[in-house]
Amino acid sequence: MRIEKQIFKVVKKSNIILLTSHERIDGDGAGAELALYHALMRMGKKACILNDGEFPAIYRFLPGAADAMVCPNGWRDDFDLCIALDSGSIDRLGNVQKKLPAGLPIINIDHHYSNTRFGTINWVGEEYSSAGEMIYRFMRVNDIEVTPDIAACLYTAIITDTGRFCFSNTHVGTHEVAADLMRCGVDPAEVSRHLYRAERLEVVRLKNLCMSTLQAAADGKIAMMQVTEDMHRATGTNYLDTQDFVDIPKAIAGVEVGILFRQIDHDGKTRVSLRTEGGVNADKIAAEFGGGGHRRAAGCTYDGPIEAAREAVVSAVIRHLREAGLYGK
Ligand code: 5GP
Ligand code: MN
Repeated sequence: MRIEKQIFKVVKKSNIILLTSHERIDGDGAGAELALYHALMRMGKKACILNDGEFPAIYRFLPGAADAMVCPNGWRDDFDLCIALDSGSIDRLGNVQKKLPAGLPIINIDHHYSNTRFGTINWVGEEYSSAGEMIYRFMRVNDIEVTPDIAACLYTAIITDTGRFCFSNTHVGTHEVAADLMRCGVDPAEVSRHLYRAERLEVVRLKNLCMSTLQAAADGKIAMMQVTEDMHRATGTNYLDTQDFVDIPKAIAGVEVGILFRQIDHDGKTRVSLRTEGGVNADKIAAEFGGGGHRRAAGCTYDGPIEAAREAVVSAVIRHLREAGLYGK
């Protein structure tokens, strides 16, 4: 039986379903879980969205977003199924993982090629642009109606994970899905207005501060920026406002690896985001520091302040560039 049908069979037998995604949820996780939320509710199931952290403000325009909760709020002891979306490993679920009882079946739906297959059922589709595209496929295979609300959620998942259909995970099928979502009622201009033309003034000010930290290394093959807690305090912003800042150094001509370092004040750690042109594998570099991701987009948490993270990560990146013959002799 194909996996989409196998999953549907389990979903039909379940009644109170926990939907979740990775910590510091992005547009793909948010859009995929909301799309599935609407579909399950329409099937008469009780579905609850519980995430590790707050639902980012930028995705709150999506229908149903107000129902998403921060775990353990909304936790129920009678959940009979958990569906994890866009999460390469179980520890990426953060707080939610800590609450999961041993016997609870988990359906793992994800498109990271390094997925650890942590579920009871695992659907790992690395050929898909996004978890959102997988949910679209799931719905089509099982004849679940894609309503305009669901289409908006799925379109958001796809457009954010493909960088507006610009990244190398954009395939013919991705555009076909997007076209069908338009037929189902999504308005791309409206979604894009929320995602890309609604930046808060505070966030633009933060970006300005962040851009003034721009540094290059390895003859311009590496470009990096940083965001500190002080910058957040000065601008009235927070960590969730910086999800796409790493695209700025990555967009500079000649850059193979763009890096963003973000200070996480309360525990003296640094979040590291890596974007590559494909010559070196971002996830291999991130894995050296306990993280992971995709070939061209990955991240990790460095256990130390920004300066230490920068020194360690830049030297790892330089080693990868050398090994790939992209830098030095
Ligand atoms: P970002 O840099 O936007 O935080 O993450 C980019 C991609 O890397 C995400 O889509 C996710 O797949 C992956 N990623 C980020 N941080 C981690 C991490 O700490 N562990 C793992 N396994 N993957 C990560
Ligand atoms: Mn994704």
